[in-house]
Amino acid sequence: METSKQAPLLRELKNYLIHLKDLGYTDIPLEADLFADAQKGNVPLDSHPPQSLNKMVSKNNKSLIAVRQELGDCTRCKLSEGRKNIVFGSGNPNADLVFVGEGPGADEDEQGFPFVGRAGKKLTEIIEKGMGLNREKDTYICNIVKCRPPGNRDPEADEIAACKPFLIQQLKAIKPKVIVALGKPAASTLLGRNVPITKERGTWHEYEGIKLMLTFHPAYLIRFPTLENRKAVHEDIKKVLKELKK
Ligand code: URA
Repeated sequence: METSKQAPLLRELKNYLIHLKDLGYTDIPLEADLFADAQKGNVPLDSHPPQSLNKMVSKNNKSLIAVRQELGDCTRCKLSEGRKNIVFGSGNPNADLVFVGEGPGADEDEQGFPFVGRAGKKLTEIIEKGMGLNREKDTYICNIVKCRPPGNRDPEADEIAACKPFLIQQLKAIKPKVIVALGKPAASTLLGRNVPITKERGTWHEYEGIKLMLTFHPAYLIRFPTLENRKAVHEDIKKVLKELKK
């Protein structure tokens, strides 16, 4: 096939794969699964794969798909002007554990997935080595803003306000047992007040009836990798693990 004809196909394929990953798939659903769901009336028989992602329906029957679709090709705030990709979230839509970060950086903006850069490697290490969990299967990861703030500055109040309803809907759809807020902006956004993270990390809070743990952002651990800071995060995740096992 000519390269000019391949390009749109590859783009469509890439978008579809990003869509599946956004919605929590770790592999591509078989056509038979889609057909079985159509038989059960979960999806229309002639539905195009992106609209027929039955597995994305989470515990309380609200799907992340609907939230993603409502977000659309968002231009609700100025961050949309400079972004390459919306970074909606990734992982298991039925996860018991959700991590909420701040916002995409350059790598996340480029790839369309949260925590795939240096801070992401650190977060994966915390999840897999520190907690003994599988990042894709056992957790869902998202951010308070879905588009990259220029130069990795903190998200501004109007940007958080525009994006927060989607974070809230994601959390409502997933209904995890525990949410972990990574860093001050995530903690402050979820608790609706200015959180002194150094003082309050390691303490339990509640978000809409869901247990909320506050801890340092992985990027902070990379910048200040002191024994004290590493120990602090280790203690925080031990508390999370204990809660998950209840
Ligand atoms: N930092 C964040 O807060 N979120 C990401 O997705 C990546 C880095």
